[in-house]
Amino acid sequence: MESAMHYIPYGRQSINEDDIKVVEEVLKSDFLTTGPKIAEFERKFADYVGAKYAVAVSNGTAALHIACMAAGIGKGDEVITTPITFAASANCALYCGATPVFADIDPVTYNISPESVECHVTERTKAIIPVHYTGQTCDMDAIHKIADKYNLIVIEDAAHAVGAEYKGKKIGSLSDMTEFSFHPVKHITCGEGGIVTTNREDLYEKLKLFRTHGITREEKFLHKVDGPWYYEQIDLGYNYRITDIQAALGISQLGRIDKFLEKRKKIAAKYDEAFRDFNGIEIPKQAEYSNSAYHLYVIKVDKSIRKALFEYLRANNIGVNVHYIPVYTFPYYREHGYEDVKCENAEKLYESIISIPIYYDLSDEEQDYVIDKIKEFMIENR
Ligand SMILES: *Cc1c(COP(=O)(O)O)cnc(C)c1O
Repeated sequence: MESAMHYIPYGRQSINEDDIKVVEEVLKSDFLTTGPKIAEFERKFADYVGAKYAVAVSNGTAALHIACMAAGIGKGDEVITTPITFAASANCALYCGATPVFADIDPVTYNISPESVECHVTERTKAIIPVHYTGQTCDMDAIHKIADKYNLIVIEDAAHAVGAEYKGKKIGSLSDMTEFSFHPVKHITCGEGGIVTTNREDLYEKLKLFRTHGITREEKFLHKVDGPWYYEQIDLGYNYRITDIQAALGISQLGRIDKFLEKRKKIAAKYDEAFRDFNGIEIPKQAEYSNSAYHLYVIKVDKSIRKALFEYLRANNIGVNVHYIPVYTFPYYREHGYEDVKCENAEKLYESIISIPIYYDLSDEEQDYVIDKIKEFMIENR
C-alpha cells in the first residue's frame, strides 16, 4: 500500500466550496477588478494583523517592490537582507536601482543575524528587509535597535509569516512596512496576490499611488481640478492591481486562517516528536520570542546524505524541496558584482536542508508515510 502512495507536495492550497462560491459571485457581479472586494480584503487583513493600513497588489513580489519605492529606495542605496530567502526579497532592491547586501544568518534560527546586519551597515544603507524564514520571526527588537541607531527603514518580508507572532504580537504592524504573499503554497491564497501593511499614512498614500501607475484622483494631491473626469499622474508607478476575483478568494481564505495555522502547528509538532530523538535528523529550533506560523518545515541532515535522501523521497512520491539556494550564488548575482560574496552559515545550511510536506489538507496517514520513508532511509544510510 505504501509504495502506491499518491504524490504528496511540500505545500499546497486548501480550497473549499465557500471559496468557489464567493469567486463565482464576483464573476457574476459588476466589478471584476477595482471593486468593493479589494477594500474589504484590505480592511480585514489589516485588522487581522493589527495594522492601520493595507494595500493589496497582484503578488508578493509587487508588494515588496512598491514597499521599496514608498521607502524612497533608489540608485546608490544599499538594502540589507538574508541570502536564505526567495530571490524576490533582494530583487526588489535591484528593481529600484539599489544594491542588495547580504548579511549572514543565525545558525540556530536560520534567520538573518542582527550582528551580521550591523556589520554590513554603511553610509549608503537605507533599509533592512528581514525575512521570517519558515514562519519563525526574526529577532525584531535587535533589528529595530540597529534601524533606529542608523536611521534605516525596516520592510519585513512576511511571506512565510501570516499569523506568526513576535513576543505575543502579530507580524504586520511592528515595522515601517510588512509584505505578505498569497501564492498557493502560502498560508492563505488568492491564486496570486500580495499585500503591504503599514501604520504610517504617508507610506500608505505612496503605496496606493505606486500600485496604479502613479495616478491619483484624490483632490488633496491634484495640482488643479479640470472637471469630474480629471485625474493626474504625479509619480511613476506600475499596474500592480489585484482583481476582485482574487480579493474575494482572499477574504474567504482569511476566514479560515486560525484553522490553517492550528493544523500547521499540529503537523510541525508531530514531526518534532518523530524526529527529536532520532539520530541523524536535526529539527528546527524555535526562538522563545517567536510563535511560528510554520509555512515550511525544514529538517537538517548531514550534507553527505542530503541529496540521496532528497532523491529517495522524490522517488517515493514525496514532493520535498530545498528552501533556499543562497540568492547571491545565482548566476545573475555572480555576474553582477557578487562573485566574491560568501555567507558561511547560509552556505552551510543550504547543504543540509530539506523542506518536507506541511499544509492544511495533509492527512495523518500521509504524514505518517512521510515520517516512515525518512526514517527508513536514515536507518539504512546514516
Ligand atoms: C513567496 C515569497 C515571496 C514572493 O511572493 P510572490 O507572491 O510569489 O511574488 C517573497 N519572499 C518570500 C520569502 C517568499 O516566500
